[in-house]
Amino acid sequence: MASLSLTNVCKVYPNGFEAVKDFSLEVEDQEFIIFVGPSGCGKSTTLRMIAGLEEISSGELKIDGRVVNDVEPKDRDIAMVFQNYALYPHMTVFDNMAFGLKLRKVPKDEIKKKVEEAAKILDLEKLLDRKPKALSGGQRQRVAMGRAIVRNPKVFLMDEPLSNLDAKLRVQMRSEIASLHNRLKATIIYVTHDQTEAMTLGTRIVVLKDGVIMQVDSPQKLYNEP
Ligand code: ADP
Ligand code: ADP
Repeated sequence: MASLSLTNVCKVYPNGFEAVKDFSLEVEDQEFIIFVGPSGCGKSTTLRMIAGLEEISSGELKIDGRVVNDVEPKDRDIAMVFQNYALYPHMTVFDNMAFGLKLRKVPKDEIKKKVEEAAKILDLEKLLDRKPKALSGGQRQRVAMGRAIVRNPKVFLMDEPLSNLDAKLRVQMRSEIASLHNRLKATIIYVTHDQTEAMTLGTRIVVLKDGVIMQVDSPQKLYNEP
């Protein structure tokens, strides 16, 4: 559970390119925010700044009212799920899900408990000993989500998490993400090119172009639904 506040956030890459310009947005606790916009408009850069994986050039980022511009990624209570899953190929499903907890020196028995809980939610209980290459695309995506939810973060950032899945799985995972959002009561920021995903999942949609926010609206308003 968390609110986010971005005020005039800018990103200028070392080569001088201004990828995000004066980005201001208030995200309420448990909102499901969707970022849409053409490739290169700054969606990933913004997520990466929120996660702390990319430095904010100017402006202010607050989580629950606290300025976190200089807070390390691991201390931000944020989890990120990527399009390409980013699983460690040599590790089992269990170890992939446990990785972030081990990094944070969580006791072993607690790690086991948390991984098993997440595996139950995501229907991965029977797959904990497998390596990623022995999983389907949908299962891999669930492991990536499992790795995020074991940490029980306040904020989830998802960068086109379903774009590598086939149509049928996308529909299934879409409803899983919706129920995960309800169950975890998390605040989510989600990047997608898929209008159906944006409409069914989002509480608000942020439209970006060339690093600038063009529009922020409810899905109903944005897509002219009655
Ligand atoms: P999106 O996620 O919307 O596709 P990105 O945030 O990945 O867009 O990129 C926004 C812009 O910043 C793009 O024009 C991209 O080429 C540029 N960009 C991304 N990373 C870097 C970098 N490390 N150095 C310079 N420019 C970058
Ligand atoms: P945490 O959940 O604690 O942030 P992760 O397990 O997600 O830790 O991974 C930490 C970093 O390592 C992330 O930046 C992630 O993108 C990267 N990473 C994860 N898996 C791989 C991989 N198989 N190859 C390269 N980098 C990876």
